[in-house]
Order: sequence, then C-alpha cells, then structure tokens
Amino acid sequence: MGAPTAPGPVNSTTARTLESHVPDPETHLCVVRLVPARPSWQCAGCGEPWPCQVRRDRLLSEYADDRTTLGSYLGLQLADALSDLPRQPASDLHARFLGWRRPT
Ligand SMILES: [Zn+2]
Repeated sequence: MGAPTAPGPVNSTTARTLESHVPDPETHLCVVRLVPARPSWQCAGCGEPWPCQVRRDRLLSEYADDRTTLGSYLGLQLADALSDLPRQPASDLHARFLGWRRPT
C-alpha cells in the first residue's frame, strides 16, 4: 500500500482523468501537484491522508532550498485543516502536516 502503481494502457479520453496517478518517468513522482481534497484532507491523487508520501517527497524536492517557505506553506494548510477537521486532535494534525519533515 502507498506506492502509486502505473495504470495499464489507457485511451485518450481516460488518460487525462488518470493523469494524477501516472508517475513521472524521470522522477517517479506524480506528474500533477497532489492537492488535498477538502474538507476530508485526503490526497486527491491517491486518497491517502494529505500530505501523502508522494506529496511529501515532492514537497521536499520543491522546497529543498527553502525550508522556511515549506514550513509556512504547511502551516497555512494546517490552519485550514484545523478548521475543516475540528474533531481531529490538533496535535495529530500538527504531526501529520509538519512532523514528517526531515531535520535540515
Ligand atoms: Zn497522493
């Protein structure tokens, strides 16, 4: 579980809707930005709790040189999630959104 699997051959009409699940041939990461589906805050690409592992790896590479901006971005997402998911303990959401980052 967790790793995106490449879909089989698809025709041109379904290719676009499956786009979010097609790994980039060079990076093996999802091609499109994996955005959270609100208000559930599951990844719109794979359905795992956002940010999913693919998204986390992508964020780390996108913000490799700017961890401060990454922290700000995740903090904004966390603030939105806290308002969307009032029943989730704030500490759990904080760990989920911010606790996974590798130390710089
Ligand atoms: Zn995902």
